[in-house]
Amino acid sequence: MTDDHVWYPYVQLATMADPFEVVHTEGTKLHLADGRVLVDGISSWWTAAHGYNPPYILDAVRRQLSVMPHVMLGGLTHRPAQTLAARLCEAAGPDFARVFFAESGSVAVEVALKMCLQSHLDAGRPGPPKMVCFFGGYHGDTLGTMAVCDPEEGMHHRFADLLMPHHVRRVPRTDEEMAAFESWCAAQDDIAGIIIEPLVQCAGGMHAHPEETLRCLRRAADAAGVPLVFDEIAVGLFRTGRRFAFEHAGVTPDILVLGKGLTGGVCPLSATLAQRHIVERFASSDASRALMHGPTFTGHALGCAAALAALDLFDAPDLPGRVAAIERRLHAALAPLEALPHVARVIVRGAIGAVGLTFVPDRDAFVAACAARGAYIRPILDVVYLMPALTVPPSDLELLCRVVSEEVSDLCPPPPPPPA
Ligand SMILES: *Cc1c(COP(=O)(O)O)cnc(C)c1O
Repeated sequence: MTDDHVWYPYVQLATMADPFEVVHTEGTKLHLADGRVLVDGISSWWTAAHGYNPPYILDAVRRQLSVMPHVMLGGLTHRPAQTLAARLCEAAGPDFARVFFAESGSVAVEVALKMCLQSHLDAGRPGPPKMVCFFGGYHGDTLGTMAVCDPEEGMHHRFADLLMPHHVRRVPRTDEEMAAFESWCAAQDDIAGIIIEPLVQCAGGMHAHPEETLRCLRRAADAAGVPLVFDEIAVGLFRTGRRFAFEHAGVTPDILVLGKGLTGGVCPLSATLAQRHIVERFASSDASRALMHGPTFTGHALGCAAALAALDLFDAPDLPGRVAAIERRLHAALAPLEALPHVARVIVRGAIGAVGLTFVPDRDAFVAACAARGAYIRPILDVVYLMPALTVPPSDLELLCRVVSEEVSDLCPPPPPPPA
């Protein structure tokens, strides 16, 4: 389209390839205006966990739409929000007491940050308060969340000098690094909280860490008396095979952030879950100590209805087994690529499979080559990855694995610069 007025995300509008126009979705398929049908390898930024147009979720949204699309939560409330909050707390663990709803992951992380920073200030602890966050991390695009993303590799280095300063650390992976991290934390007095994407840092470049890292962060947070925040927007809700990634490590965060697949990709909705002791930090006769946040669409009723239905689907007893089968297939297809000279690393965890290259490929050319073979796959910088629907049929997964494996094998690293 020559007179497209849409400002597309993360692209240079002047040189971008024409985006594919999608006219219909179904299961794992994108039906394009030009008649092509592509198997989606990344489920619309990992949201369509149950495949596109899941009838059960669509029915729930239609029912809600017929009675009440939305009312604000300022002075009003509604059953879909209350029921969803109760169900999320029940799923996350007995100490979770309240859920703050927003419509994007970034805002849900902002809310988690405010829970940490505001309660640090109100407690009169030394400041200015800082979060501990990690290289390789990604927590959103708003100004507050950019400040806890990877300052170098991330998408936001242009803003580095303008953002709130936080403590950005390397993710501790070995015993030595973990011991050093814990003693470093113990020596700080301005830490207001620790935030990480548990097990796999996704949009910041697909980096995995051991489960022990999460136990180390739990110990460090406990010793410092600060909240541990797990941003499970990408890895939560069975993406790693368990309901929450933290279950693999046997530790529980104080604040848990969910988004992306929460409604099965049907509506925008995110959730920040807080344990009772976090909620109590805000309890006061002083009204100004309330959590000062309130998105217009907080607790959107259609989104809550969609999420309640999506949670029913996430309860399917065969889901962990399905994710385990996806993991085995991804591993078999992607692990051999590690032998290629232009492949730096391969990561497979649950329904996440990523191939890190030694260079940044021409993204538009890569997307077009995959599309010509019937797959929609869109790299993040130097990482080619698959995060398909958790319900992806074996034949579609087979196609995705074959396309990634062959297209990555065929990639040519750019020639070295000529000698000076
Ligand atoms: C996508 C993502 C976000 C931001 O969510 P938006 O809905 O894009 O604002 C935050 N954290 C993680 C881990 C994510 O994957």
